[in-house]
Amino acid sequence: MNATLTAAALTETERARILAKAALFSPPTPLTADGRRDLVGMSRDELAAELAAIGEQPFRVKQLWHWIYHQGVTDFARMSSIARPLQQKLADKFVIGRPEAATVQTSSDQTRKWLFRFRDGQQAETVYIPDPEQDRGALCISSQIGCTLSCTFCHTGTQTLVRNLGPAEIVGQFMAARDTYGEWPSPKGETPRLLSTIVLMGMGEPLYNYENVAQAMKIVMDNEGIALSRRRITLSTSGVVPMMDRAGADLGVNLAVSLHAVRDDLRDELVPLNRKYPIADLLAACRRYPGASNARRITFEYVMLKNINDTEADARELVRLITGIPAKVNLIPFNPWPGSTYETSSGNALHRFAKIVMDAGYASPIRTPRGRDILAACGQLKTDSERRKKAGALPLDPVARSTHSRDGDKSPNPMT
Ligand code: SF4
Repeated sequence: MNATLTAAALTETERARILAKAALFSPPTPLTADGRRDLVGMSRDELAAELAAIGEQPFRVKQLWHWIYHQGVTDFARMSSIARPLQQKLADKFVIGRPEAATVQTSSDQTRKWLFRFRDGQQAETVYIPDPEQDRGALCISSQIGCTLSCTFCHTGTQTLVRNLGPAEIVGQFMAARDTYGEWPSPKGETPRLLSTIVLMGMGEPLYNYENVAQAMKIVMDNEGIALSRRRITLSTSGVVPMMDRAGADLGVNLAVSLHAVRDDLRDELVPLNRKYPIADLLAACRRYPGASNARRITFEYVMLKNINDTEADARELVRLITGIPAKVNLIPFNPWPGSTYETSSGNALHRFAKIVMDAGYASPIRTPRGRDILAACGQLKTDSERRKKAGALPLDPVARSTHSRDGDKSPNPMT
C-alpha cells in the first residue's frame, strides 16, 4: 500500500514538473497588433468572462460558439442572429482569427501541406492526407514548434523546441485547413466529412504541451461546434508516461504510441525519452489506458529502419511485448530527409515482419508513404523557426523549408 502511494505521489510530482516545464514555453497571448483579442481557442468559460467584461450576458457564448465553430465565420457582420450594434462592439474588441498560410504545397498523391505562420512569426506545418478511395481524410496537426525529444529518425527532432502552440493555434490549423476545402458549416451526425479525423502527429510531443492540446481538443469535440467525435481523434506520444493517464481520463481520445524498438538499449538511441520512461513503464501505461478495447485499439507506430530494428526476432519480441493489449501495429517505411543516415527496410523485411505480427493476431498494415515529394510524410516535418534569442529579435519572417510529411493508409500515422 505504501509502495503504491509512493508511486502515485511520484507520478503526480513528475506530472507537475512536466506541466511547469511546458509553461516555460507558453505561446504569446493571442492579440492582434491593434490589441484585439482572438476569440478562437478560448474555452466557454473564458469566452463568458471576455463577454462579461464588455457587459454582455452569458447566453451570448452559445451564439458566438455556433457562429465561430459551427458556421466557421470570421466576420462578426455575418452573424445574423446578433444585432448590428453588438456586431460592431465585438469587432472593436475581438477577432476570429486563422493562422496565415505562408506556403501551401500539394503532392502528386493529393496530400496537402501548409506552412502556417502565427502572429509572432513562428511557423509550424500541418498535413492533410485524403483517403484515396473515399471522401474523407485525416488532418495531421502540430502541437509544438520544434521538439525537445530528438528522435534520431525524425526531421522535426533536429529542430530545437521554439515554443508550445496555444489552443487558438492548434484549433486554428484545423479551421484554416477546413476553410481551404470549404467544409462549413460543420457536418452533423453521420454526414461525411472531408476532414474526418485529427491526428496529433505533426511537429512536437503533444503530451509536453498537454494543457493547450487538451483545451484545443475539447473545443474540437464540443457538440455545438466542430463536433468531432473523440473516436476520430488520435493523440500520438513518444511515451510521456505520467501524462498518458491524464490524457486518457480527461479526453478519452485514441492513443498512438511511437514504439520503434523492442529493446531498451536500441529505443534509448532511437527515442531518447526511453531513458526516462523505458519500454516496460510505457507498456504498463498502455495497459491501463482508459477506453482501450478491441473496438478502440492502441496503435503502436514502428518505423522500419534497415538492419536496425527490422529482423524477424524483433517482430517476435514486439508480439511478446504487446500481448494482452488491444493493439494494432502500423509499420512505417522510413521516410528519408536531408541529412538522415537511416535507410528504408527492404520490401522483403517489411513483409516478413508484418506477417509475424499479423499471424499473432494483430493488424499490421504497412503504411504507404504519402506526400514524400513535398516532404510531408511521417517524420519529415520541419520549419526554419528558431527560438527567440534572449536579447535578440524574433525572426519575423522565417523562410519555410517545408520539410514535413506524412504517410498514410486509411488512418494516417504518427511519428510523434
Ligand atoms: S518523432 Fe515526435 S517526439 Fe520524436 S523528435 Fe519527432 S516530433 Fe519529436
